[in-house]
Amino acid sequence: MTVVTTTCPMDCPDTCALDVHVDEGRVTAIRGSRGDHPTTDGFICSKVGSFAKRVYHESRVLHPLRRKGAKGSGEFERITWDEAISEITTRFQAIIAGHGAEAILPYAYGGSNGFVSDGLLDDYFFARLGASQIEKTLCAAPTGAIATAMYGKMPGVAPEDYVHAKMIVVWGANPKASQIHLIPYLQEARRRGAFVVTIDPRQALASKEVDLHLSILPGTDVVVALAIIGELARLGAIDHAFLGAHATGARALLDEAAAWPVERAASVAGVDAGAIREIARRWAEASPAVMRCGWGLERNTNGAQAVAAVLAIPAVSGKFGLRGGGYTLSNSGAAKLDVEPFFAGLKWTARTLNMSKLGTLLTEPLSPPIKALFVYNCNPVATVPDQNSVVRGLMRDDLFTVVHDQVMTDSATYADIVLPATTFLEAWDVKRGYGSFVVGGVKPAIAPVGESMPNDRLFARLGQAMGFDDPQFRTTSEECVRYVASHLDMGNGRKPDVDALLAGSFTRYDFPGAAPVQFETAFPRTPERKVDLRPSILGDDPWSFVAISDPRFPLSLITPASSRMISSSMGEYNFDELFVELNPGDAARRGIGDGAAVRVFNTLGEVRVRARITDRIRPGVVSMNKGAWMKSAGNGRTAAALCPQNVEPVSGGACYNDARVEVEKTS
Ligand code: SF4
Repeated sequence: MTVVTTTCPMDCPDTCALDVHVDEGRVTAIRGSRGDHPTTDGFICSKVGSFAKRVYHESRVLHPLRRKGAKGSGEFERITWDEAISEITTRFQAIIAGHGAEAILPYAYGGSNGFVSDGLLDDYFFARLGASQIEKTLCAAPTGAIATAMYGKMPGVAPEDYVHAKMIVVWGANPKASQIHLIPYLQEARRRGAFVVTIDPRQALASKEVDLHLSILPGTDVVVALAIIGELARLGAIDHAFLGAHATGARALLDEAAAWPVERAASVAGVDAGAIREIARRWAEASPAVMRCGWGLERNTNGAQAVAAVLAIPAVSGKFGLRGGGYTLSNSGAAKLDVEPFFAGLKWTARTLNMSKLGTLLTEPLSPPIKALFVYNCNPVATVPDQNSVVRGLMRDDLFTVVHDQVMTDSATYADIVLPATTFLEAWDVKRGYGSFVVGGVKPAIAPVGESMPNDRLFARLGQAMGFDDPQFRTTSEECVRYVASHLDMGNGRKPDVDALLAGSFTRYDFPGAAPVQFETAFPRTPERKVDLRPSILGDDPWSFVAISDPRFPLSLITPASSRMISSSMGEYNFDELFVELNPGDAARRGIGDGAAVRVFNTLGEVRVRARITDRIRPGVVSMNKGAWMKSAGNGRTAAALCPQNVEPVSGGACYNDARVEVEKTS
């Protein structure tokens, strides 16, 4: 038995250091490293702890496949890699001749990938083709746009520094599902006297784990944040000295906040005004205090405004300059990869299409139309809004669809060609943490299972098969790792240690110090090196609030992360049944008991599941986990079927939480 050191690249802020136990070429266990990784500390989530199930699962795609039944039937025949590559390149060449290269659409998100498998050879290949570009908006578009505009993606408070905070606000995040290493730090901070607040329509942490939970209506975060700022002003807790030295736009923000007295905001958000006042008072008194801004608040029409108002709270109150004080969003901006040398002058100038509107892109007139869809690092049927229109699009006879994936996903069943992909245990990569301050090497622990291929090898091979003689298509995976190591800036020109990456280990940052102190060792990366509290990307009415309602569908649907899947990954074995959660009052009014069969519906579709009655969800809101596979619901449709294709106006981000639904009992 050998133990292979590697890094978890899954879409999770923690970026754990892993010990992978391998016996006779098979993974037998995956454990958290006990080494000096800043957050792993010898434990990992059960999702990755049981990831060997995915590696050897019966639905693993082991060979290239060609569709032989109807689209969506799941009937395929085995073909060779040579046949698959030949068919793809032949079809691509015909489409380019008939419609132009923009008729080919690469479709990838890549949250669970690193620099080698997301944005290097794949982008180079599609840029070389001149294919359409995809705007990656399913997650983090509003938060990314606002964090960039306000702070230039300044590195945030490290998870391990939360123990120093005297107040912690977790806003729109569920660390139990998607950042478990934050939990011990929250507990330790509380043991040391910190006041912990969660703000979310659904109470994810147990009552005994938090001091105050504010259960707001979806989409109302912006007005609650403005009311907190207004209350801070009323308490005399605005740090004018800090604002004068380090911020722009404060006057406009404070004026807007004054228009949202606590009572007005509380009435819109459906919460107790006293609770908003208590949060503001305690925040004013606490030092250090930290705001953990998650991604739940961005998934609606008011998402960008909400993030802008929430991220302004630490600034107006001057909560920076101390370990454990400030804010955390994504820390991905701490390191930046320069891809220009790799692209060597190649510009990708083709049109850009928003991935959140895939259903429309595939089913409504477009010039040129999409004739080929190449899906990788993504499972759009399970994750993209308006599932029914996505499926209608994938059923088009004239659409040539290729899916490169590890298992036979719902999306793969609609493909013409399915290609076997390696898991992270079988391929090289480099992962930049977006919570933990590490850059980690992803090193293969076992040989590729079946005939699976990493996507950097796939795109190198496709490039050569298309007749391109660019040297990029002859680089090896190890050369890609070396490229990333030498072109990744971890601040002040510092690079990760290439030997550590190739050994599956990690490099820590140095701010100086392994974790930043905002406005002490890490500063805004905006042009003026100041926080911009009134970012121009918000337009003329920067903190506008739009109420989303539909009298026919009185319940708001939220679709949070599950502790059993990462987006849709592992849904093939780890998420057998999808439920809808209802508040007891909403359930009683509809005659719905716990476990009752129900249909959740709106004009876009319906989902047939069983009800779970819980007072963790506030009245007027229902919840279904995101990423569920079709087999987990009675009618083969999941929460994505009820989410509109609305996009957030500032960033184009998906507005899952704009979904309004009704629930009724079925027999
Ligand atoms: S998913 Fe997150 S918690 Fe789980 S092993 Fe990976 S980085 Fe760690």
